[in-house]
Amino acid sequence: MDKISVIVSCYNEEESLPLFYKEMERVRIQDFENVDFEYIFVNDGSKDKTLQEMKELRKQDKKVRYISFSRNFGKEAAMYAGLEAATGDYVTLMDADLQDPPSLLRKMYDLIKNDGYDCVATRRVTRKGEPPIRSFFARVFYKLINKISDVEMVDGARDYRLMTKQMVNAIVSMKEYNRYSKGLFSFVGFNTKWLEYENIERVAGKTKWSFWKLFKYAIEGITAFSTTPLILASIIGLIFCVVAFILILVIIIKTLAFGDPTSGWPSLVCIVFFVSGVQLFSLGVIGQYLSKTYLEVKNRPIYIIKETEKDNQE
Ligand code: UDP
Ligand code: MG
Repeated sequence: MDKISVIVSCYNEEESLPLFYKEMERVRIQDFENVDFEYIFVNDGSKDKTLQEMKELRKQDKKVRYISFSRNFGKEAAMYAGLEAATGDYVTLMDADLQDPPSLLRKMYDLIKNDGYDCVATRRVTRKGEPPIRSFFARVFYKLINKISDVEMVDGARDYRLMTKQMVNAIVSMKEYNRYSKGLFSFVGFNTKWLEYENIERVAGKTKWSFWKLFKYAIEGITAFSTTPLILASIIGLIFCVVAFILILVIIIKTLAFGDPTSGWPSLVCIVFFVSGVQLFSLGVIGQYLSKTYLEVKNRPIYIIKETEKDNQE
């Protein structure tokens, strides 16, 4: 009998988690007669009663397992912990807020079972219910990153997907600290089928992503999967050298032909500002990569577990 591991990362989801569990169980009973299930709830350092909810669910249902972090490590870390702990033949990643409809799971499972895919992933085709400015920047980001990165990033791709154990192992084998899953999923390859659906608003609670968090996540994605910005700095430098050389020639010729009236202070100041701006920007770009390398080299754990269901066996 096949077994599906359902991994749900939760950060302050005390309201959503019971709703999620109810809906998931409904789908399981209705659509999956001959399939074993395992729920892995990862508590990502929630400050509300999420952990208590998990323990409560564990009491009722031995299919439920939970992993509780010592603090908030971020969704990427939570997903990684879940993937490492999963024992199923197939593994799915879901959000606790029911934005990833469990009702799609049967279709995903059938596609893997019957059509030979290794992974069925989902993407939302609309960004309904999202601030327009956020959608705009998201679109710009995906255009940009697909130009400068080798792996393909799908616009609107969610983390919701069903994968074979083989693909999960490949992802778990990538132990990098700065995790950008959307990139990692396409990096490992395998046959992926994309399902599309309309955006669904979360059932309860509110989104954990501020604009600033998303911005930092975008930078993460770029530095993790592209080195083009580094090349960019060299190219800009080169262009500036050429321009400077031409300007020197122009000034020499002008001075020889017309004498040397001292002028041009305002333009000089502008140039100094502009060039030092470009330099600082390039330094910043290099700094981004350096800082990621720094964190990587320190080799810190991606997450720290405080307790799991194994610590609470009655
Ligand atoms: N999440 C998490 N750690 C965090 C932030 C979020 O585990 O630091 C979880 C959250 O509980 C939810 C999922 O990641 O299950 C997606 O978060 P959210 O719904 O806030 O993001 P959105 O759907 O708005 O992109
Ligand atoms: Mg959500």
